[in-house]
Amino acid sequence: MISTTPALARDIDGKAISAQVLDEVREEVLALANQQIYPALAVLLVGDDPASHVYVRNKLLRAKDVGIRSLEYRLPETASQAQVLELIAQLNADPAVNGILVQLPLPASIDEQAVIHAIDPIKDVDGFHRENVGGLVQGIEVLTPCTPSGCMRLLLEICGDLSGLHAVVIGRSNIVGKPMATLLLQANCSVSVVHSRSVDAPALCRLADIVVAAVGRPALIDASWLKPGAVVIDVGINRITSEFGDRLVGDVDYASARTVARAITPVPGGVGPMTIAYLLKNTLIASQLQRTARLDGALSVSAPVLG
Ligand code: NAD
Repeated sequence: MISTTPALARDIDGKAISAQVLDEVREEVLALANQQIYPALAVLLVGDDPASHVYVRNKLLRAKDVGIRSLEYRLPETASQAQVLELIAQLNADPAVNGILVQLPLPASIDEQAVIHAIDPIKDVDGFHRENVGGLVQGIEVLTPCTPSGCMRLLLEICGDLSGLHAVVIGRSNIVGKPMATLLLQANCSVSVVHSRSVDAPALCRLADIVVAAVGRPALIDASWLKPGAVVIDVGINRITSEFGDRLVGDVDYASARTVARAITPVPGGVGPMTIAYLLKNTLIASQLQRTARLDGALSVSAPVLG
């Protein structure tokens, strides 16, 4: 008898793939320790946003896990912009600090862009500084935003060579959509970016071999948006409250999409763990860039223990 049950997409296991990335980082940290080099990440949290506290805790735990030194700085909700900038200036000047991460969002009284652009680009492990953004667009080796880097690794694991594939990125934010589209272009995809003003987003999406959803709307994208066999990366993290309690869902209607897609990231357990893994990878890249810059004489630091 012929079965009529459609084949379901395979899950793209972000936990397992991020564990591989973390193993790579751990190995490199050990090799650096043998040369008396100890990379360090400074994480700055301003205010009381509960989700930010959870994110920062997870980042610090993972850093410890792989042997990266982490330095935690907390400022109250009432901290002034001058205080935040002063702390960043200190961290910029400290040769023992290789990466600086300011957890976003910042309290409304603080100009986020001013803070991002106060970070020394060579320590900007989030890859949000305009110098790193410009370098990314030009294909120069820079610190690249963590979430899109993590998505690329997932896609490379699933698809191998991405050359010639058509990718649709849904969302055009500076932290996910735009850098994601740039990385896909560099991997030789044909790239379309769909956003809130796009006309007939589902029709554009149905042309895609790869769909990356970064919108922030629960279950916006269902099977009707997808070409059969598409690979779907769901970046969205949306908290849904129901009578059964709170749960996290993505931008993709997972149950519907997996009846059409070839492979799909679950939420949670897909993109989320990759973001932290690439933050730690970026800390190592920053540390390497700083050592190279010192050798080139571009930086004049002389502390005994440097990452
Ligand atoms: P954002 O709000 O800055 O941008 C959302 C984008 O979606 C905008 O560019 C907008 O044009 C587009 N958009 C809105 N409505 C749309 C529609 N109906 N159709 C098509 N496009 C539409 O959000 P962001 O910071 O890019 O984050 C997006 C989602 O990804 C959020 O859920 C966020 O929590 C999540 N996120 C997850 C991670 C992770 O590590 N997994 C990291 C960053 C962001």
